[in-house]
Amino acid sequence: MTNSLEKEMYDIKAEDLKKSYGNFDALRGVDLHVKRGEFFTLFGPNGAGKTTLIKLLATLTDPTSGDLSVFGFDAKKEVNNIRSAIGVISHDPYLYETLTAFENIKFFGELYGLTDVDNRARFVIKQVGLESRTHDLVRTFSRGMKQRLTVARAIVHEPKILLLDEPYTGLDQHGAQIFGEMLSELKNQNRTILMTTHNIDEGLDLSDTVGILAKGEIIFDSPTSQIDPANFKNLYISKVEES
Ligand code: ADP
Repeated sequence: MTNSLEKEMYDIKAEDLKKSYGNFDALRGVDLHVKRGEFFTLFGPNGAGKTTLIKLLATLTDPTSGDLSVFGFDAKKEVNNIRSAIGVISHDPYLYETLTAFENIKFFGELYGLTDVDNRARFVIKQVGLESRTHDLVRTFSRGMKQRLTVARAIVHEPKILLLDEPYTGLDQHGAQIFGEMLSELKNQNRTILMTTHNIDEGLDLSDTVGILAKGEIIFDSPTSQIDPANFKNLYISKVEES
């Protein structure tokens, strides 16, 4: 049971959140509480509702019912405040291939109404290790480089909360390692991070809390410190099969 003071500390607070597409219930009453500065990894098989949940948190779609607040803002009434507070990274980079890295980030910075956008764009491009490619076209980038630039795009407006939907998809081992190191740095900058993934090996070591989403419900959650990494895969499979 949480008291009201503790609830204030949650950057993500979903209560009995439901989303239906026609007759199909994609989310069937999700309760999710993510504290400020916490890294929460939500595992779940394909079709579990992970992307739907991220879309709701990002205010890209409305819940069918339930309560949702992000960074203290109500998802029904304060959409613009939420959008300023979050950065979203998915498996799709949403970058313009025919623009340079700099032009892409500048474009997104301008969308957020940033002042001194040139310097900010240079800063985040350097932060993700792409300084030497600042003025190269994105279409010449590897998948891993694009994903790093996606991170620059997502943090250009200095959001407090990052939402990551299957961000490792399509990265090779080296790309995944570099991406993991970047996530670790972002975590150290005291951001609140919610990541979804179907890959057990990714996310366990970075996260403070893990959860399992299956068939539209969070069926398990635990502090990562109480998880035995060697057994988590078996636990995950048995929980998903039971659901
Ligand atoms: P995940 O990201 O875990 O793979 P999704 O959130 O994408 O899951 O999808 C959850 C369920 O909702 C799936 O069965 C999917 O087919 C369904 N779904 C997702 N989006 C739509 C939509 N726009 N219309 C109808 N069904 C949808």
